[in-house]
Amino acid sequence: MLSSIAKLQKFIKLEVERGYDNRAVVGGLDKILPSWESEARSNRLDEQTIQIVIDGLKSYPNLDPEGRAGMLNQLLSRLPQGNAPAEGSANPEAPEPAQPEAGPNNAPVPARRGSARTYPSSSSGQARPAQRERQTPETPADLSGLQASLKVIPGIGNRYAQALSGLNLNTIEDLLYYFPRRYDDYSQLKPINRLVYGEETTVLGTIQSIFTRPVRGGKMQLTEAVVSDGTGSLRVSWFNQPWLAGKFSAGTQVVLAGKIDMHLGRLTMNNPEIEPLEQEHLHTNRIVPVYPLTAHVTQKMLRRIIYQAVSYWAPRLPDYLPEKVRSAVKLVSLSTALQNIHFPESQDALDVARWRLAFDEIFLLQLGVMRLKRNWQVANAQVYEVSDEWLQAQIEALPYQLTGAQQRALADIRRDLASGHPMERLVQGDVGSGKTVVAALAIAMVTQHGAQAALMAPTSILAEQHYRTLARLLTQPAGDRPAPLRPDEVRLLIGDTPEAEKEAIRAGLQDGSIKLVIGTHALIEDPVTFQRLQLVVVDEQHRFGVAQRALLRSKGENPHLLVMTATPIPRSLALTVYGDLDLTVMDEMPAGRQPVSTYVLRPIERERAYSLIEAQLKQGRQAFIIYPLVEQGENGDALAAVEEHRRLQNEVFPQFKLGLLHGRMKPEEKDQVMRRFRDGEFHILVSTTVVEVGVDVPNATVMLIEGANRFGLAQLHQLRGRVGRGQNQSYCLMIPDREDAVENERLAVMAETNDGFVLAERDLQQRGPGEFLGTRQAGFSELKMANLTDVRLIEKAREQAQQLFMSDPDLSAPEHELLAKKLQQFWGEGRGDIS
Ligand code: ADP
Ligand code: MG
Repeated sequence: MLSSIAKLQKFIKLEVERGYDNRAVVGGLDKILPSWESEARSNRLDEQTIQIVIDGLKSYPNLDPEGRAGMLNQLLSRLPQGNAPAEGSANPEAPEPAQPEAGPNNAPVPARRGSARTYPSSSSGQARPAQRERQTPETPADLSGLQASLKVIPGIGNRYAQALSGLNLNTIEDLLYYFPRRYDDYSQLKPINRLVYGEETTVLGTIQSIFTRPVRGGKMQLTEAVVSDGTGSLRVSWFNQPWLAGKFSAGTQVVLAGKIDMHLGRLTMNNPEIEPLEQEHLHTNRIVPVYPLTAHVTQKMLRRIIYQAVSYWAPRLPDYLPEKVRSAVKLVSLSTALQNIHFPESQDALDVARWRLAFDEIFLLQLGVMRLKRNWQVANAQVYEVSDEWLQAQIEALPYQLTGAQQRALADIRRDLASGHPMERLVQGDVGSGKTVVAALAIAMVTQHGAQAALMAPTSILAEQHYRTLARLLTQPAGDRPAPLRPDEVRLLIGDTPEAEKEAIRAGLQDGSIKLVIGTHALIEDPVTFQRLQLVVVDEQHRFGVAQRALLRSKGENPHLLVMTATPIPRSLALTVYGDLDLTVMDEMPAGRQPVSTYVLRPIERERAYSLIEAQLKQGRQAFIIYPLVEQGENGDALAAVEEHRRLQNEVFPQFKLGLLHGRMKPEEKDQVMRRFRDGEFHILVSTTVVEVGVDVPNATVMLIEGANRFGLAQLHQLRGRVGRGQNQSYCLMIPDREDAVENERLAVMAETNDGFVLAERDLQQRGPGEFLGTRQAGFSELKMANLTDVRLIEKAREQAQQLFMSDPDLSAPEHELLAKKLQQFWGEGRGDIS
């Protein structure tokens, strides 16, 4: 036996005999560490075991006798028994890699012998590694095994395979990339009397009582439980999950995970996750993964099979990231990352694993986006050039002077159209910055030469609005400039367009007599064909999927593409999300705009808001009142549009007409209501956030937002952008649900700035990127780990992707072969050419 092991065993034995008083060694057991550590190293004891001993003995003095007993037992069981150094550390001939750790639940650990298809269940109680990189076997496995059906795992039959398929788990590889939704850290459990308000934590205790009762006049069910652990008790509640009281009863030991809240001065948890305690975790002293589940799949079972897949496959996976990239960013290997993301050795190891996997996602996204960009950069497109005189005449014909930003956007577009390659430009300009006129001039540049253009908007009311604006700008002569188009060359195609008219439009587009068509989805759903579609304009881009953009484009031959969005996306994010597009930012408002006066009101000041609205209505203006919900009861105490519309109409503004608009109405109904508001039939529009997009009602001067704390700043800014579009001073009033100092401070930023980009940056910091991104954006469904607010990560990944792309754009070098495959998989077959 190794001398270091023998010594350790001796001291442990002594300590056990003394009853764990930490006096077996003078000054405490941990005092042996310095000399023991060097002896262990010279014995070539494996690093993992050394670490475990160090960590264990260091924490020993702080444990109570029971904890000390457990700890020493654990150490003893983890010490190698024989004479040889531990497997896998100093023994390159070892046929098998070291077992990474005891299995979850202390289940028998599968030995990794034989092929991918066998999972024998003999156990080998090997210590778990504590070093940063985990073990990797000498010979990589045959990767085709990754695509094997889950049924190769013992214990998984047809029925279970089907249940797993409900989680999109069909192959071994799916298991490796099925990440935990959270971790329960049993090594860091906190007793109830040491919980701290506001922290996210895991609590373990016994249910003392649990019952459900109706609240809010029977509209909701409240389940309340008291959970205690000997140090104290905690009140826990759940809304509308009455079945919990049936599933858990008094006396059951449970694990609760969630945020510690405060109610009437006492700590509570609201809607925490609850699971029965699995006894075995207590003794494993480890971080346990918790996976998303579905019917017929239990946490235990899933954990077991993922463990099997991970412990066999993760160490065998070759890394597709080139070594150069990995060392430049100091990333752990894919093997280590996958092992630690599922069964972390420590919190640090988990963080490092997350960083690596998140990096990969952004890196792959970037590579894909660059490839898309290159694809269109090498494609050919028709050249559309216009003379300075022509452009000058068009600009002079406008009823106003273009802003500097508008001129820059035009210059960009003009250059793109003349380049001989398809334009792929995103114009990003705050609400009201005047993007429509820029689009109008781009259209004129193309139709000038007899080609056709199409503009697609997300709603028919917006399409109509564009139709009127564009018809005014493009079909009316101004001074001695002839109109670029004749009225009959510009048409509107929406769902409501009568069939006969649609027929005529289709004919006109096909024979080329119609030069510009403006419409909604109808443009792509309808079997329209164009004679010569050369410019596609997409407004409010984030409302459309990439596929829809692609469909419209496919109706022309390498047409130019102009995409417009009013959602100011922070630059780092824009480069990642829209990295395939060239970006023009319009960061300047037309002169003479009065900023919207913005105020945060307390709920008790609501009457003041109503008086202001009334005063404005009496001057002939109109107002929006926005609610976060359609109907009451959807989410706690928020006011809801339907109920409030009734109350406001009957009790507050009986002398005015109030319209109601929300997302559950049919598109035609919505358009109808919007139209009547625009035409002045309604004085007030009570609505949910469906009014957010692009609608222009210059006569509206008040935007009252209820439940404002429920919205992100970017969204509030969009809502505010609905007013302040005319000559008159406009107001934006925000009322949060509750008096909440923190929330009100957040909202106060709205009063400080009218700059959408500033607000977007703040929003990104506060709420993450969900606000900005349609989930349909290509590549984004693949982002499981990456947090797009992590600018440092994004910058690093972009930088590396760019360097790699410059040296080997096709990834044709042999060392990039795996990466090329991974990229293909990440972006999906064929998705590469639909942008
Ligand atoms: P958005 O960028 O939000 O789509 P619009 O194109 O709808 O903005 O323009 C908002 C309003 O500003 C419109 O009424 C438009 O006529 C007006 N506008 C656009 N450009 C200018 C300008 N340079 N000077 C003055 N008003 C302008
Ligand atoms: Mg617009």
